[in-house]
Amino acid sequence: MTEPAPENGETAPLLAPPTSTPEAAATPRKRWVRWAVPLGISAVFVLGVILVLVLPRQFTPLLARVGVVDTHIDLPWLLRNYYKNDIHAFNMREAMPGHVDIPRLKKGHVAGVFWSVYVPCAADLGKDDGEDFLTPTYRVRDTLEQIDITKLMISEYPDVFGYATTAKEMRTQIAEGKVASLIGVEGGHQLENSLGVLRMYYELGARYMTLTHSCNNAFADSAGIGATPTPLHGGLSPFGVELIQEMNRLGMMVDISHVSDATAIQAFNVSRAPLLFSHSSSRAVHNVRRNVPDSILELIGEGPGKKDAVVMVNFAPDFVADKGKADVKAVADHVVHIAHIAGPRHVGIGSDYDGIPGVPTGLEDVSQYPALFDELRARGWDDTKLAGLAQYNLLRVFEGIERTAWEMKREGVKPLTAVYDKREDL
Ligand SMILES: [Zn+2]
Repeated sequence: MTEPAPENGETAPLLAPPTSTPEAAATPRKRWVRWAVPLGISAVFVLGVILVLVLPRQFTPLLARVGVVDTHIDLPWLLRNYYKNDIHAFNMREAMPGHVDIPRLKKGHVAGVFWSVYVPCAADLGKDDGEDFLTPTYRVRDTLEQIDITKLMISEYPDVFGYATTAKEMRTQIAEGKVASLIGVEGGHQLENSLGVLRMYYELGARYMTLTHSCNNAFADSAGIGATPTPLHGGLSPFGVELIQEMNRLGMMVDISHVSDATAIQAFNVSRAPLLFSHSSSRAVHNVRRNVPDSILELIGEGPGKKDAVVMVNFAPDFVADKGKADVKAVADHVVHIAHIAGPRHVGIGSDYDGIPGVPTGLEDVSQYPALFDELRARGWDDTKLAGLAQYNLLRVFEGIERTAWEMKREGVKPLTAVYDKREDL
């Protein structure tokens, strides 16, 4: 005899109890309840997880999720000038002079910084390098001290800063809630004409070097600041070409902020790796030589004849707008224009905080980055473009540079032993 089908459609048990009692008649419903209750609890749990994980992301401002990476902050120079590099003479957990301290970094959702280990050109100190840049200076000592104070600062606040030397380490530090902290050297003059010094800066953690600051050097011509220096090489010198090749081999970002237009154009041709403008704005928006012209922005991209690069917008009021007019809208104009010409994947932020005497209205310090993102969102920028601006465009370029270095090492490219031809001691 076949068992009558249970009313809920379940397959009847093999050893079905007698069906003559009321208890027995209710059994199939009890079984249904037995699996339906845990299923319901699981569904509620899954829904809860979705609510906890997804909904806050929808409503958390983008910067609170992604964080800003700024490729040019001059705090190490401020520490040298204000505190004589004494790590015990200041407390970054409290208000600091200048534009940077820990409370403001947190308020500004800062996820990463390339700390500039800047040392001035001779002319900025009222000195002269000599015709062939051979006058001895203290630049290598001073650069080492700048690197030292940067590393001391990172170690002093281990809960805040996370030292990084690769894009992967940057991502890890950011994921752990730290301010990923990297080092950039701001001028070929800091090498004292030596590729050996370049390699040692790399060993010490420097991951970009600007080919020039505001002075010409043995490697390349500069755009200057204010007055443009008379070109010496017509762009890169032959030694400058070798410098770029060695930086490509090392995986050190070739930074072409500060350089002359001829130097920048030649760097596009010479560099096998993508390029960085660590702190430069748009010349079409505000016409100063220190900004990048459209003719160079047009070289950037992924198509034929173009090279990947990222232009990190500088906030220095003199580079942003006419006197008294630099504000958050004017900085946004630079971002939008660079994105329009080079593409939104090729723009980022290199404020130059602590290295600029003034600041734009509304972008007074590192706590104010969200104002720029709000302005761009009001102009129709979506999360993808804003996240690229905040950090992903820079990370892509950094990874491209690392990839080139890896390829060159795999091809067996050896360290360059070139020596500056004007040197007489070697
Ligand atoms: Zn600079």
